[in-house]
Amino acid sequence: EEDLDKGLEKTKSSLFSKITKAVAGKSTVDEGFLDELEGILVSADVGLETTIKIIDRLEERVAKDKYINTTELNTLLKDEIVTLLSENRTENFEDYVVPEDKKPFVILVVGVNGVGKTTTIGKLAHQYKKNGYGVVLGAGDTFRAAAVDQLQIWSERVGCDFYSKGMHSDPAAVAFETVQHAIKNDLDIAIIDTAGRLHTKMNLMRELSKIKRSVSKALDGAPHEVLLVLDASTGQNAFEQCSKFTEATEVSDLALTKLDGTAKGGVVLGISDQFQIPIRYIGVGEGIEQLQIFNKQAFVDSLFS
Ligand code: GDP
Repeated sequence: EEDLDKGLEKTKSSLFSKITKAVAGKSTVDEGFLDELEGILVSADVGLETTIKIIDRLEERVAKDKYINTTELNTLLKDEIVTLLSENRTENFEDYVVPEDKKPFVILVVGVNGVGKTTTIGKLAHQYKKNGYGVVLGAGDTFRAAAVDQLQIWSERVGCDFYSKGMHSDPAAVAFETVQHAIKNDLDIAIIDTAGRLHTKMNLMRELSKIKRSVSKALDGAPHEVLLVLDASTGQNAFEQCSKFTEATEVSDLALTKLDGTAKGGVVLGISDQFQIPIRYIGVGEGIEQLQIFNKQAFVDSLFS
């Protein structure tokens, strides 16, 4: 909880202290207040569509010009945001638990360069390792030397297996063989990195489906999870990347990184609302432990605390 509070400090001090201030000055919900609230939410990258939804719902619940105290209004607002975040919860696998009938569990990790993909893979591997599972990381981002090296460094730090065919090798072959490696060595989970080049939609689509196909050839039913990593501090870019990737492939889960470095944590609300894909993880720092399972209530409580 401490990490979460610290991680959200910037968002809290911009977005939510503004809301609190706006709320505190009001005893009635009038047009002026709603306009002010709209401005605050939009400036925190909640996105216009989602902002309007929040405002509309608030309006439905509070009669215009009705007297309302600060605590009530805060509670209402919190409520609406939690509801908004709840709407996209699909059935998820239990956190950091590999289902018995899905071994090795295969996670394909996608996202553009620099968003924190490698770091998130390392943090995930660490959590699974801590739960006693055998893990292999597959170096499927074969376009950057640094990507292969960084992933290897993470595997050493975590103390798990690493599978690579070097730079410029075929990502689909790496993915296939990583799964084979997991099967042969009786490992529980394979986490596969992919190249984060945002080229044309067709190329991205082709590349990702090729990797997916070869993973499912290696193991029926795999990949079990396609995790899209987005950098929360990039605001509208995160929305755009989410559009591109979800058009190119079926994304099952989202990780939003670098929430600690941004005042624009509102992006979590907007992305959750607009894409209806569960936000599974949030990154709240560079450290190996600083990946959290996204908990909507804890998130909203922390924002309003
Ligand atoms: P990739 O290119 O997508 O693989 O990105 P990296 O994993 O190499 O991360 C890029 C930079 O972001 C590195 O300096 C990471 O330490 C940093 N980073 C990743 N996740 C987080 C996070 O949640 N918070 C902060 N503050 N930094 C992060």
